[in-house]
Amino acid sequence: MKVFILGDLEGTAGVVDFQRQTYSDAKYYEQSKRLATLEISALIDGILEGGASEVWFLDGHGPGGVDYELMHSEAKMVIGRPLVAPWGLDESFDALFLYGHHSMANTERGVLCHSWNSRAIANCWLNGDLIGEIGFNAALAGSFGVPTVFISGDDTAVTEMRGYVPNVTTVETKIGLSQTSAVSLSPLKSRQLHQEAGREAVEKVSEIQLFSIAPPYEFVTELLDVDSVSLKAKQADVERVDTHKFKICSDTLVGIAQRR
Ligand SMILES: [Zn+2]
Repeated sequence: MKVFILGDLEGTAGVVDFQRQTYSDAKYYEQSKRLATLEISALIDGILEGGASEVWFLDGHGPGGVDYELMHSEAKMVIGRPLVAPWGLDESFDALFLYGHHSMANTERGVLCHSWNSRAIANCWLNGDLIGEIGFNAALAGSFGVPTVFISGDDTAVTEMRGYVPNVTTVETKIGLSQTSAVSLSPLKSRQLHQEAGREAVEKVSEIQLFSIAPPYEFVTELLDVDSVSLKAKQADVERVDTHKFKICSDTLVGIAQRR
């Protein structure tokens, strides 16, 4: 069995602050990356115990969200920028794991919630429905026939994922109190749960229904800054919707992901 882990940094236990923990100039950024990497390595231990033979890991946090020195020895790491979708993900994979994810922008109590870019994007819609990275990436994998079988993150990220895949295996790393506060698991407990859930998720792969969204696709982005919309609207195939929104259309989610 071949597994693809898409990782982020905002859902890691102990991580609750953009300015101090997740931005590249944050004082505790290196510590956040270590916390994440140790959870990912525990998750990979579980995935291998469950019987997977190959594990890819894509670092999805914009400025980088892992400390390579601490990464599990068996991980095949997809790293660096620019990374163009679908980043090596294809029909040969049996399952997608979403590690350390966050809920979409404007989610009540959503710890570090945002949609792709916390400093630029207000909201996103796919075919008329609000969507964030969780739903979009699950649907993108679904377009290759790959089911999303695991998510870890705060309780609002887990709830968002269950809206797409009700019986997904989960690790709730923290209960959100606000966008920048939470009741968090300790790092040691969170690693333990990641290992157990990784094994369980692999064992349950055949029970998970594929989540997919039928084409064609219309993706609307609402930006915080009007001037950025004007700039974006100059690109080919980008249509301005109103002062703050632009849209792109495609017959594939990869096409959306590459241009959004
Ligand atoms: Zn991130």
